[in-house]
Amino acid sequence: MKKSRTALKFSSRRKKLVDQIRQKGIKDENVLSAMEQIPRHMFIDTALENRAYEDRALPIGKKQTISQPYTVAAQTELLKVKKGDKILEIGTGSGYQAAILCQMGADVYSVERHEQLYLTARKNLQELGFRPNLKCGDGTVGWSAYAPYDGIVVTAGAPVVPQELIKQLNIGGRLVVPVGDKASQRMVRITRVSEDSYEEEQLRSYKFVPLIGESGWDG
Ligand code: SAH
Repeated sequence: MKKSRTALKFSSRRKKLVDQIRQKGIKDENVLSAMEQIPRHMFIDTALENRAYEDRALPIGKKQTISQPYTVAAQTELLKVKKGDKILEIGTGSGYQAAILCQMGADVYSVERHEQLYLTARKNLQELGFRPNLKCGDGTVGWSAYAPYDGIVVTAGAPVVPQELIKQLNIGGRLVVPVGDKASQRMVRITRVSEDSYEEEQLRSYKFVPLIGESGWDG
């Protein structure tokens, strides 16, 4: 038996982390409860698993990171996920954010540009019994085959809001995307209010790895 990889391991550390995130201002109990259940250590290398429940981003290979837990919670809260919502994630990375969305009962689609990360994320998610729709490719153009979405979350920093993603929102749908230069990005939420009107909110600053692609930075 692979003892070190069980979902139950570290459950008290996980609870502490969720308490910290709650104290930092996250209120959506569905987000907090999903984070209390998903074993983040199963989305990183075993050599780092002791650090899985620190509120920090950690390396996952290919110069990429699994986002800081607080950031995952904040983006998920901004998405206003309801059970059954169709959600598109750009930047699958480790698969952790996708697992949180699956745990919340969303119908999850996720795109990752690095093949190695895409394959590892698929394996991590399957180990927990999740089978979201994953694709390897450039997510800056969205995933039109399954559009429209109730929510789209971009987990890498964009130079501008990718216009194709806005077009793939349902009416009432939310796009959550960090936008800025490579050093710092402002979280932006765009809500599609009607067929041709949108509402934009500028929120606090973060630092993400760069979004690379047609409507992102050059590779
Ligand atoms: N949500 C991830 C965070 C990964 S970091 C997690 O929970 O672990 C952001 C990821 O976005 C990286 O894996 C990076 O390779 C990926 N990425 C960057 N540009 C992309 C693009 N245009 N399309 C898809 N993925 C992209």
